[in-house]
Amino acid sequence: MKLVFASNNKNKIKEIKNQLPDTIEILSLEDIGCNIDIPETADTIEGNAKLKADFVKRHYGYDCFADDSGLEVDALNGAPGVYSARYAGEQKNDNDNIDKLLEVLQKEENRKANFKTVICLNLHTETYYFTGIIDGQLLKERQGTEGFGYDPIFVADGMDKSFAEIDINAKNAISHRGRAVRQLVDFLLKR
Ligand code: IMP
Repeated sequence: MKLVFASNNKNKIKEIKNQLPDTIEILSLEDIGCNIDIPETADTIEGNAKLKADFVKRHYGYDCFADDSGLEVDALNGAPGVYSARYAGEQKNDNDNIDKLLEVLQKEENRKANFKTVICLNLHTETYYFTGIIDGQLLKERQGTEGFGYDPIFVADGMDKSFAEIDINAKNAISHRGRAVRQLVDFLLKR
């Protein structure tokens, strides 16, 4: 089986390849000669994952899966959600995004938030979705230097360290992305 992962993120591609047998060949966007920045114009995380998976199926004919993630903050009714990467502007800067979120939540006592990943898979004529969620709390200031995005201000429920204070394997074991990927892998292995 040949499957395109609509991504050029080498870490994400490696993580998935490591969990699949050689009978399932994973191709990146680069592998299929797709150099276009696929537009992510949907207003939901699911919608953006589907946009990317559909784009590859339509233009290149491959079975394909794509992921999209975001941070959903309770006190902000789920924002920034699908807009997490560009919360503080189109420069898509992690530090600016954290600064803005800390500022907006300065006087907010409800610190509940969750990360969410949706993977959309177009296989033959069917579309499947796999969702991974991790609940936690937002800190009032940064802790730790590992990771990316909002990691320095997110502490998963049951932990006492932020995502930026734990190593990548510990994070993958519980993270939204890890959970969604494991569902996809289980599904593919059963076919
Ligand atoms: P993407 O869809 O995986 O590119 O994620 C979109 C945005 O959500 C990122 O640019 C981050 O701002 C945020 N995000 C997603 N996953 C994580 C994570 O594991 N840690 C911190 N921030 C994340």
